[in-house]
Amino acid sequence: MRRTHLFRNFRQCFVYRRKSSLRLWEQDINTEIKLNIEKQWSNVVRRSAPNNGMKPYYVLPMFPYPSGNLHMGHVRVYSISDTIARFEQLNGRYSIHPIGWDAFGLPAENAAIERNIPPSQWTKSNINSMKNQLEKLGFNFDWKREISTCDPGYYKWTQFIFLKLFEKGLAYQSKAQVNWDPVDMTVLADEQVDDLGCSWRSGVKVEKKYLTQWFIKTTKFAKALYDGLDSDELENWKDIINLQKHWIGECDGVVVTFKLEVNGEMKTFDVWTSEPYKFIHGDFLIINSSHPLIQDLKSHGRSTLVCLNPVSNCELPVYVVDDFNYPEGRNVYIGCSQIDSEDKKAAQLLNIPVSRQQLKIDIERENSQAVEMALKKNVGGHFVSSKLKDWLISRQRYWGTPIPIIHCKTCGTVPVPYEDLPVELPEIQSSAGIQTLEKLEHWKKCICPKCQSSATRETDTMDTFVDSSWYYYRFLDPNNKLMPFSKEQVVDHMPVDIYVGGKEHAVLHLYYARFMSYFLHSLGWTPTKEPFKKLVVQGMVMGQSYKLKSSGKYIPPDRVEKVGKEYIEKNTGEAVITQWEKMSKSKYNGENPERLLATYGCDTTRLLILADVPPATPRRWSDATLPGVLNWQHRLWMTMREFLNHRNNVPEVNTLTPEEYNKHEYKIWDSRNYLIATTTYHFKHTQKLSVGISRLQSLTSVLRNKVPPEVITKSKEYEKALAVLIIMLAPVTPHFCSELWAGLQSAPHRLTESSNMIDWGKGVLEQTWPKVDGADRCELKLKSSDLLSLTHEKAVQMMLNQESVKKRLTTEIHKTKFELISTMIIDDFGKGVASGLHMIS
Ligand SMILES: [Zn+2]
Repeated sequence: MRRTHLFRNFRQCFVYRRKSSLRLWEQDINTEIKLNIEKQWSNVVRRSAPNNGMKPYYVLPMFPYPSGNLHMGHVRVYSISDTIARFEQLNGRYSIHPIGWDAFGLPAENAAIERNIPPSQWTKSNINSMKNQLEKLGFNFDWKREISTCDPGYYKWTQFIFLKLFEKGLAYQSKAQVNWDPVDMTVLADEQVDDLGCSWRSGVKVEKKYLTQWFIKTTKFAKALYDGLDSDELENWKDIINLQKHWIGECDGVVVTFKLEVNGEMKTFDVWTSEPYKFIHGDFLIINSSHPLIQDLKSHGRSTLVCLNPVSNCELPVYVVDDFNYPEGRNVYIGCSQIDSEDKKAAQLLNIPVSRQQLKIDIERENSQAVEMALKKNVGGHFVSSKLKDWLISRQRYWGTPIPIIHCKTCGTVPVPYEDLPVELPEIQSSAGIQTLEKLEHWKKCICPKCQSSATRETDTMDTFVDSSWYYYRFLDPNNKLMPFSKEQVVDHMPVDIYVGGKEHAVLHLYYARFMSYFLHSLGWTPTKEPFKKLVVQGMVMGQSYKLKSSGKYIPPDRVEKVGKEYIEKNTGEAVITQWEKMSKSKYNGENPERLLATYGCDTTRLLILADVPPATPRRWSDATLPGVLNWQHRLWMTMREFLNHRNNVPEVNTLTPEEYNKHEYKIWDSRNYLIATTTYHFKHTQKLSVGISRLQSLTSVLRNKVPPEVITKSKEYEKALAVLIIMLAPVTPHFCSELWAGLQSAPHRLTESSNMIDWGKGVLEQTWPKVDGADRCELKLKSSDLLSLTHEKAVQMMLNQESVKKRLTTEIHKTKFELISTMIIDDFGKGVASGLHMIS
């Protein structure tokens, strides 16, 4: 027995004590020491915590596109997510912090063509170099969950989900007018065409073409997606709610799919109206000549058109009219001359023969009746705005997920059987010229799974937004060989607790991801509809650019000189314009993360990008942030050095009176509690990490500002406050804090025992996030004029109405006690009185 006991103790010591401080405290902190510290602690910092049955917390940063180089936007997004993941871990949660690659898409294909190598090779080498860079930044990603959308093991399941959509009638083919980029040879979404009608990527004038394309019927979920934005499940979405609502539009109308015979073939088309009763009583339909069906008809000569209204089962005459005020985004209109007087006028104006009779109906009743009929007959009936369109997912390029469909002359459009997935992209040896699946005859030819005759494969690939619309589910079950993911694996982890990414993805990506999540939920595969609980939309990292006033040509910063308030070119003296813009090589205003890592180390780089500006605010990147951050790290280093020196030479004689000593202790105790409360609040609730960091800077100042050696060596409060400061900074600078902590652990004459607050046997990353102990005070400032009428009750009420107090009362506070403190204060408001709210945990 006894031997086992000893052995257990020994093991414990071995595990926790194997890393110790480098003991370089007598030297001044510099980059070399920082890099040594990072080397010393890198294994500890990158070790993901085991899942000990703790409640999971899912922190999801948007996965990167593997362009080959990390940019400052990446450094920002992953510094934010890593800090939040580490914070939650200290709070006793099991953090899921995955990473993968949004690896398909045009840029890789174009880059590969330029270099004459296959896109897969280019993408793989980019992933390797970016992975290496991410590791250098000390991010604690769960690499076991790594996925890549171009891996057949992933896109097999994208195809699987496509087939489910097809099965449910939510993936369909239709002829549509599309934006065609003649250089990139592919379709562009409306958002990828600028105001001048040019492609966002190639810059050439976009052409309009009519092509048969694959669509996903996102509009079917439009109303649910719109209404879902008001759900309590979403936290902190702020202005993204309005961006999303604006994109979807108010769902004040209904769509029904009509049929029309075109050149002897039955074609379908959608009709939208805000007055569904017209699907019962409508007597004419007008259509713009730009409608693809009419375009098709033109080349074959046009006769009198009649369509079939599937709700009323009646035939309706169709008139081609260009000069008509169609609903926004639509080019078809259904009219009802017998009920709607405006429609009657329109019919007369357009010489459309209609009945003279007028009908009186209960419009509301017939509206709901029409919707019911459409739903029952499965011909539409879902609410949607007039402007929202279905999602066009066809891309005529090689580097994407192949659409798993086979075209057979006899059977028509046949889905690839599930057991034949994945439909793999054919290997290509080089990318000479533009390769499309259309041109790869060998690959195209196949056997129809239904009738076994020869058939051809669909040669369009999917928009990469399809790949990224469900990746957050795959992260939770990355090795599943039977399904995209199992419900058991996602049920405890969804929705994602916090999603961090750039604002450029706040409209389309978020909309498609929400649609997909709603769809997967409708299959019964997931616990919730909404995929993301909380959003942190990070602002852009911008660099200062310079261009010649005369020509508008960008020039590098080293050719620019500041004279007074103006900027000139050094050599010529020519006037230079400066502005803050998105970083880019062509504007010479980028910052290279590799340079920052080499010059300052990874912790300082993380601190630089997180300090001063909250995540949501655009970041103007300049060297101006540097001195503050470097100086703070220096001060923390000095604090530890001095602490260790004092602890090694404890003064024997006391020079402070007990009152003086208590006053110092009280101030440290009070600051610690106040700064724990506010830092926790910002890390946990607002994600304003910069505000939390500035509180930690304040705590550093409290510990350095005229604290007598007697307090440093003999006060438990000082020891606790220093420990708490290092713990709270650890999620931001994990290596640096591990070293500071090891220093603190090594200090002689320790005053506090291991407790709930501090476990001296463990490293800083294994500590518990500090809680407020005792009371936490909150001050209320009043105008002196209000002072006379102030009662205790009224003061308490006023305090409770303060936003900051309200929020804090929802955190882990067990008891509250109020007291009116009769201190007169003078500030910007004039004379006032301070009132205190004590919160006891
Ligand atoms: Zn067939």
